Amino acid sequence: MNFTRIPGHNELIKKLIGSVTEGRVSHAQLFAGPEGYGSLALALAFARFIHCENRQETDSCNTCKSCVKHEKMIHPDLHYVFPVIRKKNSSDEPLSNDFLPQWRTFISDSPYRSINDWYIEIGNEESGQGMIYTAESSEIIRKLSLKPYEANHKIMIIWHPEKMNQTSANKLLKIIEEPPENTLFLLVSDEPDKILPTILSRCQMVKIPPFSNDEIKSYLRSVYGKTESEATEIALLARGDLIKAINITEKDESVINNLENFRNLMRLAWKRDILSLIQWAEKLASSGKEAQKNFLDYSLRLLRENLMLFLNQLRNEMVFLSEEEASFSEKFHTFITPEKCRLLADEFNLAFQHIEANGYARLIFLDLAIKVARYIR
Ligand SMILES: [Zn+2]
Repeated sequence: MNFTRIPGHNELIKKLIGSVTEGRVSHAQLFAGPEGYGSLALALAFARFIHCENRQETDSCNTCKSCVKHEKMIHPDLHYVFPVIRKKNSSDEPLSNDFLPQWRTFISDSPYRSINDWYIEIGNEESGQGMIYTAESSEIIRKLSLKPYEANHKIMIIWHPEKMNQTSANKLLKIIEEPPENTLFLLVSDEPDKILPTILSRCQMVKIPPFSNDEIKSYLRSVYGKTESEATEIALLARGDLIKAINITEKDESVINNLENFRNLMRLAWKRDILSLIQWAEKLASSGKEAQKNFLDYSLRLLRENLMLFLNQLRNEMVFLSEEEASFSEKFHTFITPEKCRLLADEFNLAFQHIEANGYARLIFLDLAIKVARYIR
């Protein structure tokens, strides 16, 4: 992973590069932010830049011996620690190293993946609870007590340090307090509040901001060949979270129909066309659970934006709509009063909760359709 492949975060990358060229890299840093903001990709690219033997102005060189090893994820001075899962009926505590081959495949496929994707990769979809075990801390000490093999620094990336058990965390604290020479820790966490406060206080915090809508859009256009309007719609749903945008794109082709489904619901509800509303509900119920949740999430956003239009606050600045949505909303917003909007939003929220709790989708959408018909006029 290098900086160039990260679709955004230019300011932050400039700062990271600056810290290296000015020789003031802090020895323990915490990259904090939701996984979909690209924290792991940034940490990987940063480690590579630090190790690069022929650094360029804006990125590592990609061709030196060190960069080549980074690309294959076999650099001897870059260590990884991440949550792993104990095998069934085994009493041995597993180590990150035991899962290194899977880890390499996982990251090479894409660094924009969640911890849940990782658990699926290592074969534990059901229980889903990984951990950084006590045994790992001795391993960390062992690895860091060695001199760097090739580079100036040993770098240890700890993905999800909040999954360390107490003993491990205390040992890590000791190492961070008195680090071996030329050692750099990059902690990557989406839940920094769950990390030992004493560890936190020793780390320099690097807060990762969300990607901008434009950054997500251009990623979806170039990587997935999405059209401008498709990419816009997904970016609006993803709200700066690239993993969310990728999941919507890969797992749910029907997202593009969200506006159409919403428009139909409102039109049929307005006409109180019950037979067609039943058909509408059946159609929604026949799509997958993720698609259903996306539709409900999408509808809530569209309602909110229309309310903003209705209230006419900062009309051009506060409202985020694609071209098609804007043309639909031109008329729609004129009868979304705050009161109606609240009633409708409550129903969409309720439907979302019920779908998430694995409720019976046909009933949930039918109920929603009838409530909308009741409130819309
Ligand atoms: Zn290089």
